[in-house]
Amino acid sequence: MHEASLAGGVLQLVEDTAVREGFSRLLSLRLEAGQLAGVDVRALRFALESLAPGTVLEGAEIQIEEPPGQAWCMGCGQTVAIAQRGDACPACGGYQLQPTGGMELRVIDMQVSDD
Ligand SMILES: [Zn+2]
Repeated sequence: MHEASLAGGVLQLVEDTAVREGFSRLLSLRLEAGQLAGVDVRALRFALESLAPGTVLEGAEIQIEEPPGQAWCMGCGQTVAIAQRGDACPACGGYQLQPTGGMELRVIDMQVSDD
């Protein structure tokens, strides 16, 4: 499952950071999964929560933000909001759209425990 491997990647990143910065417990983790990233946020959360026990993620509050997709429309020369790749421009109905935002899955920040 796609989200399970994404969750594994997020956990790896968090654990690498924990080793580098010397913390052993995370209080909260904030992620961003853009609407064009092709990520099922509920499945991702479930995958993270099932990986968490015994790791630095155990007990951490996981927040996942979903910024809307954005694309540059060549037809009308402006940035427009789209819900998914392949959508027509909401302003002119054209299909010459270049996605410019909401495509990433990334860690925004994490709050660590000092003890
Ligand atoms: Zn347009």
